[in-house]
Amino acid sequence: MVSAIILAAGSGSRMKSDKAKQFLEINGKPLLYYSLKIFDASVVDEIILVTRGQDIDYVREEIVDKYGFRKVKRIISGGKERFESVSKGLKACDKRNKFIMIHDAARPCVTNRMILDSISEVKRSKACTVAMPAKDTIKIVNDEGFGIETPDRNSLYMIQTPQTFERKLLEEAHDRLRISGDRDITDDTMIVERYMDVPSKMVEGSYENIKVTTPEDIRIAQLYLG
Ligand code: C5P
Repeated sequence: MVSAIILAAGSGSRMKSDKAKQFLEINGKPLLYYSLKIFDASVVDEIILVTRGQDIDYVREEIVDKYGFRKVKRIISGGKERFESVSKGLKACDKRNKFIMIHDAARPCVTNRMILDSISEVKRSKACTVAMPAKDTIKIVNDEGFGIETPDRNSLYMIQTPQTFERKLLEEAHDRLRISGDRDITDDTMIVERYMDVPSKMVEGSYENIKVTTPEDIRIAQLYLG
């Protein structure tokens, strides 16, 4: 019923490390290990793992085989942008599965509860994402660095992953995106909203479900995963 696409094809340039961030060690295990562990033990039917072409053998031998993750059906190479990695992952999914769940390997603190809640919600709403209310005041800032607008905080959410969609809806959205030629895309809720006019329902995530992006995030993740 559910294919999970786990994205680990980024270069992690903001991490300022020689090693790609998905392989940086947190408490002795590579970052990618943590998401795979949760998804492998969950109810999803298959995992499509998207990584950089040059890392496929390493990922298979040193992570998937080493830790015995059995639900990983395919390990494929990603694209230049995140949405291109998702698109390639989508093509590799088993067409019998009605739902697609997309998760950033850079979020190692994902939980089984988030996966279960997302699956329940997607059956009702067709599109949903794990998210949390913004804690800070968020400003729209102009080119000169001045805050010019303050959106009502009660309507602002920080979007996390996993994000879950009906497969056909997501496929059509990606087809339309490809035709449009747009490249200013940050996630899949944005694609489904912009090209299919379908809003995603918020599913409660966690403030611990951080995206490991910069060096200080590694220390925070160490704490949460310890
Ligand atoms: O760069 P960003 O923080 O948006 O990356 C989010 C996730 O998407 C990461 O897990 C990263 O590995 C993945 N990604 C990808 N292919 C890309 C860019 C990012 O799979 N071309």
